[in-house]
Amino acid sequence: MKLKHTIKFAMLLFVTGCFLTSNSVEAQNRKKKKDKNQTEAAVAPEKKSKEKTIKDLTKSSKKIEGLFTMYQDTITGSLQLLISEDQIGKEYIHFSQVADGVLDAGRINRGSYRGSKVFKIKKYFDKIEFVTQNTSFYFDPESPLAKSKDANISLGNMASLKIEAHDKKDGLYLVKADDLFLKETLLQIKPPSRPGTPPTAFKLGSLDKGKTKVNEIKNYPNNTNVKVEYVYSSPSVLNGGSNAVSDGRNVSIKVLHDLIEIPDNNYKIRLDDPRVGYFTTQVEDQTSTSSTPYRDLVHRWNLEKKNPELAISEPVEPITWWIENSTPMEWRETIKEGVLQWNEAFEKAGFKNAMVVKIQPDDADWDAGDIRYNVLRWTSSPRPPFGGYGPSFVNPKTGQILGADIMLEFVHFTNRVFYDKVYELATAEEPYEYNDFNEKDNFYCSLGHLMHDDIMFANAVASATGTSDMEMERVKRESMLALIMHEVGHTLGLNHNMKASYLYSPEQLADPEFIKGKCLTASVMDYATLNITRDRSKQGQYDDVAVGPYDIWAIQFGYMPFKTQEERENLLKQSTKPELIFGNDADDMRSPGKAIDPRVMTNDQSNDAIRYSIDRIELSNDLMKTVKDKFIKDDESYQELRRVYYLLSGQKAGAANVISRYIGGVYVDRAMAGQEGAQQPYTPVSLADQKRAMSALNKYVFAPDAFDAPNDLYNYLAMQRRGFGFFRGPEDPKIHNQVLNYQKNVLNHILHPNTLQRITDSELYGNKYTLSSFMTDLNNSIFKTDIYGNVNTFRQNLQLEYTNMLIGMLTGKQSGNYTNNAKSMALYNLKAIRNMANPSGDVSSIAHKHHLRTLIDNAMKEIK
Ligand SMILES: [Zn+2]
Repeated sequence: MKLKHTIKFAMLLFVTGCFLTSNSVEAQNRKKKKDKNQTEAAVAPEKKSKEKTIKDLTKSSKKIEGLFTMYQDTITGSLQLLISEDQIGKEYIHFSQVADGVLDAGRINRGSYRGSKVFKIKKYFDKIEFVTQNTSFYFDPESPLAKSKDANISLGNMASLKIEAHDKKDGLYLVKADDLFLKETLLQIKPPSRPGTPPTAFKLGSLDKGKTKVNEIKNYPNNTNVKVEYVYSSPSVLNGGSNAVSDGRNVSIKVLHDLIEIPDNNYKIRLDDPRVGYFTTQVEDQTSTSSTPYRDLVHRWNLEKKNPELAISEPVEPITWWIENSTPMEWRETIKEGVLQWNEAFEKAGFKNAMVVKIQPDDADWDAGDIRYNVLRWTSSPRPPFGGYGPSFVNPKTGQILGADIMLEFVHFTNRVFYDKVYELATAEEPYEYNDFNEKDNFYCSLGHLMHDDIMFANAVASATGTSDMEMERVKRESMLALIMHEVGHTLGLNHNMKASYLYSPEQLADPEFIKGKCLTASVMDYATLNITRDRSKQGQYDDVAVGPYDIWAIQFGYMPFKTQEERENLLKQSTKPELIFGNDADDMRSPGKAIDPRVMTNDQSNDAIRYSIDRIELSNDLMKTVKDKFIKDDESYQELRRVYYLLSGQKAGAANVISRYIGGVYVDRAMAGQEGAQQPYTPVSLADQKRAMSALNKYVFAPDAFDAPNDLYNYLAMQRRGFGFFRGPEDPKIHNQVLNYQKNVLNHILHPNTLQRITDSELYGNKYTLSSFMTDLNNSIFKTDIYGNVNTFRQNLQLEYTNMLIGMLTGKQSGNYTNNAKSMALYNLKAIRNMANPSGDVSSIAHKHHLRTLIDNAMKEIK
């Protein structure tokens, strides 16, 4: 120890000494130069003074050798970069990820990938440029058009750095690199402020270059890694952020920049197909006359058979995963099992042991930010943006996946709930708002959030029905396994398959023997709801414990070394098999009005999602009756009861959303024309099923007693006091508001301009549930049972809201988006309501009906 210190001290002296010497030499040189210039200027103006050498300029710096050799000044920390002549004109990949951030500023969190791009190093007179390349277009090199391939394509000159010194003999250039790394040169980090952002929202200050610094440089032969701590400062802030922000005026975001050599290997690009769900890099063939000139590159690992002659061979290099040393011991085996489940799929694609799992030693000299390692990471963030997240990054020129990580959040196992977000969780939408300005390069998975909700629900079911702790352990294990398989699936290139849950019937899912050991849907890439049976004696598996048939097929498509084009085509032709059903986020129906196929939905389960959802609502209703007895515990506050109340209501609301998608729904088949088993691309949902959905909504969403809970339950829905904080306002439960929100979620979809337009359009091609009959049914559902007598307060709320929505269709801001047919029906319904709402019943009901009539009368004056 002592010896080490002495050496260090001596080195410091030596370095410092050097610096002093070099400084004084420099000063002398400067003086000489000045003198010389004065005397010789007139005589020989072309004669230059001695240029500084790389050696001169790096005397006080530490040399860090690697792909791009760097020099860091030992006094100031400033950086210089060495560029060799053979690097000029060459392309490299820039990839970045957040090492640590704050979620207040958007999705800027540990491990979040910011995408990769190709840049070229160029020399322009005395400057070195870093220029972003365009990888979106393909020109057939045989076509003369290829000569014009650069037309109207803008490249991005990120930096133009002055050459400080040039070593002609070794072909080296030295440039200052502080501007490259200490500014947002390589990457925009701070999200732009969006129009409409409230002035009270949390904002990052301006980038303070003085405070921004390099935390670490790691240099390897194939990549240079620089970790930069960006500091955003503002002298005063209105919103200081959450508890995770220590000082809202000075916020640090740490970003890892990787400059990577483009791999020189046998990787073969693979083009995408609409029948399988891979992440892709989109490329357009500019020399093709096809109406689908797509050459989209599938994202996949470079797997090569060690023995190509064997039907099943080990790969030359497997995909190796490391379990981060921060992972709880008790979960390591399950995580490993989840990763290795994919080997079954790879075997069908010709690879044995394609996936390998290792555990990061506690004394490892590398960390998860090192792109040479694929790491299963584990964190417990203050406001977790996900339960799991599986990003990968690729060579944009080929689609080859170069690295991946998986982030897991401890929240998965907790009963932590963010109360102010509870209503939104129920909508089964992306529950956390985020302002990601670079969607293209970012991919987030919210399976973990939905799953977390479901696990808490399963927990509540188990507690209420006296299920054993063993059963709860099973829920945790199976859901963990499913989550790992899902996130690993993303890192293999697969995107979501939200249609997969359409595989089994409710009976099959309630048959423990039938589903044992299976994936409960066609694919682990779905967001199906946990399989929880209302009849507890039929409870089998809760979640997937194996990859699904679609997953195996998709891995074959992505990884099988096809010998011929025919082999590939034959595999794709199987897409019409029921177990290979596929529909991804592009078509999913999470948001109201967004997509058209009700099967492509999150939070659903089985090939009869209407029936399955009704079962879930009934199960929640069962529990609601006894919730007060089951969840009030002596010597504890009522927080747990309140949480479970919102959880049960949320499950009902989520199930109602699933049902609503069948109204105006159109099934989509993406098979190619003439493919065996193919159906026509668009087939409207049958009249029977649309009617079934409507009558379920009538009973479970709109009816006067749809959200009934025992009245004395409300007296107990209290939060535990913590300091002075009750989040956004008074603590009392906002029961009417909450119920109305659930009802509005459904109305927002079935009255969405897209849905109403589709109902009318699809009447032309097979839809038998016409706009007029649907709108009449809806009006009846919301008014008929009680408008002639007493109307309870839930119904008053619903009736007014719905009436306002109809008026909005005619005179509101969105009215321009509605078709004339829809407007006519809105007007027709308003007149019907006006006729029905004769003042009658108790005073509250009379007041309500007067209110309805006044709204309609006033609206009629505005309608032109
Ligand atoms: Zn996902």
